[in-house]
Amino acid sequence: MTDASAMRPGPIDASEMRPTWCDIDLDALGRNLATVQAFVGDAEVAPVVKANAYGHGIGPVGRALQAAGAATLAVAYVEEAIALRAAGITIDIHVLGGAVVRQIPLFLRHDLIFTAPSIDKLHQIDEAARAAGVTARAHLKIDTGMERIGVHHYNADRLIEASLRCQSVQIDGVFSHFANADADDLTDAKLQLERFCEATSCYERRSLPMPTRHMAGSAATARLPEAHFDRVRPGIVLYGVHPIPQIGAALPTEPVMSWHSEVIYFKVVPEGASVGYGSTWTAPRQTRVVTLPVGYADGYARSLGTGAATPPASVLLDGARHQVVGNVCMDQTMIDIGDASAYNGDLVTLIGGQGDERITAVDVAHWSGRSPYEVLTSVSARVPRVYRHAGDPLTVEIAAAGR
Ligand SMILES: *Cc1c(COP(=O)(O)O)cnc(C)c1O
Repeated sequence: MTDASAMRPGPIDASEMRPTWCDIDLDALGRNLATVQAFVGDAEVAPVVKANAYGHGIGPVGRALQAAGAATLAVAYVEEAIALRAAGITIDIHVLGGAVVRQIPLFLRHDLIFTAPSIDKLHQIDEAARAAGVTARAHLKIDTGMERIGVHHYNADRLIEASLRCQSVQIDGVFSHFANADADDLTDAKLQLERFCEATSCYERRSLPMPTRHMAGSAATARLPEAHFDRVRPGIVLYGVHPIPQIGAALPTEPVMSWHSEVIYFKVVPEGASVGYGSTWTAPRQTRVVTLPVGYADGYARSLGTGAATPPASVLLDGARHQVVGNVCMDQTMIDIGDASAYNGDLVTLIGGQGDERITAVDVAHWSGRSPYEVLTSVSARVPRVYRHAGDPLTVEIAAAGR
């Protein structure tokens, strides 16, 4: 007599997966960290791994960055920091977003670094830490022009003074964030930089030790060396994506994610026949169309098809570019391959290189009217991530399969 659990089929393995996946090159990630570190010299690089490491997978990315020598990881939310701890991350984790009051104990329990964006919040952190009999670590957040969280730069003195009176909070840093470091004109960014220097000069005026200062994300790291201070907080550039060419020119990092699928259907479409929902594309002559098992529920946006205001996307098949036709469906996408030949099982690249051709996340952003940040963070949990790391066995994370 077998018990019920022995009868239950196990999770699918890699060879049985739907042929749509992201390759995550953790060796490239390590080289990218080294590229940024060499560029910033003595400043610390604190990689930003919020939003599931920009869609790359927070656990494997966090472990790879820790192994590559990062001393601090930065996330947006405490939940992300806890996920890092669960994944074996023991280095410092700075939660860049503010803490909701009821989440303060979570920070203390998991040894996380707070952001104190207001005097009230600072006091709440101080009280909770005192009650727990511990010393909390926090970075003060100064708003120099983003009008998001943080105390206005012209009121920074008050936050700094309040922090000096805290009994149970140790101030490890003071930071701000640029609103326009990726603009052609850096005038606004330089004004923010000036405001930050003025706000933090409070420490010098009082002959107090300056906490770690940091302000630069990817764009300012690449373009404003005077904004490096003691630490930089790059995100997207570490994943090898350059929202503006100036970032790639200074920091020539390599793409970490590539996204692939396979041909699962081939058909000849006669002249005058329309493809997909809404019939947004009609074959001008007889042509060959292949179908891919990927759609907008995977994060391959509907607007990559021919029904949108943006130009339709291309994909790579056998080293050549071919265009998406029709609207992208929830689960499938059709490609016009003209007179080319294709067989079921042929590799199709949505983001990445084949031969001399390459499609970047920036291209996909352009074709879908989104930012490259949205493209990366939109790749959904239904797409397995395949991790490649020299010396390690290939690992596959299939979130949608519940592993
Ligand atoms: C997201 C974020 C970053 C990283 O931005 P990139 O442009 O990806 O480098 C840095 N700092 C803060 C506060 C952020 O929210």
